[in-house]
Amino acid sequence: MNINILMVVACALLSGVSADENRQERVPAKGFAVYEEKGSFQPFEFTRRAVGDGDVQIEILYAGICHSDLHHVRSEWGKEEYPMVPGHEIVGRVVGVGKDVTSFKVGDMAGVGCMVDSCSECPACVAHKEQYCKDVVLTYHSHDRFHGNELTQGGYSDRIVVAEKFAVKIPQGAHLEKVAPLLCAGITTYSPLRYAGVKKGDKVGVAGFGGLGHMAVQYAVALGAEVTVFDVSEEKRGAASELGAVRYVNVNKPSDFQGLDGSFDFIISTIPSGYDPAMYLKMLKMDGQMAIVGLPAFDKMPTISLASLIFQGNRKVFGSQIGGIRETQEMLDYSVENGIYPWVEMIEADAAAIDEAYRKVLDGAVKFRYVIDMKTMK
Ligand SMILES: [Zn+2]
Ligand SMILES: [Zn+2]
Repeated sequence: MNINILMVVACALLSGVSADENRQERVPAKGFAVYEEKGSFQPFEFTRRAVGDGDVQIEILYAGICHSDLHHVRSEWGKEEYPMVPGHEIVGRVVGVGKDVTSFKVGDMAGVGCMVDSCSECPACVAHKEQYCKDVVLTYHSHDRFHGNELTQGGYSDRIVVAEKFAVKIPQGAHLEKVAPLLCAGITTYSPLRYAGVKKGDKVGVAGFGGLGHMAVQYAVALGAEVTVFDVSEEKRGAASELGAVRYVNVNKPSDFQGLDGSFDFIISTIPSGYDPAMYLKMLKMDGQMAIVGLPAFDKMPTISLASLIFQGNRKVFGSQIGGIRETQEMLDYSVENGIYPWVEMIEADAAAIDEAYRKVLDGAVKFRYVIDMKTMK
């Protein structure tokens, strides 16, 4: 027995606890999971990793339901592992901090989006674009290579443990019940608008007017752009103008497209199902840009023909995935300062209520984001 072990044993004896009990404990959690592909939600009890020196433990108050949660639950983006607790739009209260944490204290409000860790060293991480780190750990359905490769679980639950640098600060005065969807829908649309340099007077098209699209409209309007919304029905025409869009195109009405070819500086596609991207490409001006953020199911993935890229040349099409943590904080501060929030409908933390919300998201009947009030969990 070496001297270190002797000291541990001596300390344990003196303090009346065993060495095992001195170790940090895993954190018990409960929430809602699907247990199989396309299954319905059921209560689920599990544990989170122990709160490490650089971690915060957050009591979850609100969790947004994102369309990508449906894709994951249904294994539409590749084979998933179950049980799965979805949810990557999380707002809550800090209830514990590790000894090295400097930016949060117990009682602070904090948010967690789509990522919970990354390598910190690669070019993407150094550029504050952790979402493109090859070792990024997603908030759920991801193996956490920095913590024993355990499967991560998301925000439809009562608590989460996360590295301090992957938690964002909720600005004072924020409407807490509406903040959660900003952590995915907000940053996913804010980031490409900034990346493309959208500015006052630009003509911007927003294709797909759901959870993401209704945030894109608000950011583009706040940046001073003239916004046109594209969606598949008449139902959302009123909402588009209420959010500041100047034109609404029902894509099933050919006359709505009149005069739009070659007219946009920037188009963002948030469409989560099959469509023809070339239809939007030809509406870009010369030097115009198109950002793709909507990711349809793999078996319905649209393709873009090289011919349409060449014949509509000198326009740029780029993909964009959420945004880095630094930009997420910037987006959150900007949103709260400018009063930009999603339209949300609150539901109770109840398995049947989540199932029902999923059915409505699938039917396109949600306006525009469901948020689960986790405080109501029994
Ligand atoms: Zn999302
Ligand atoms: Zn990295």
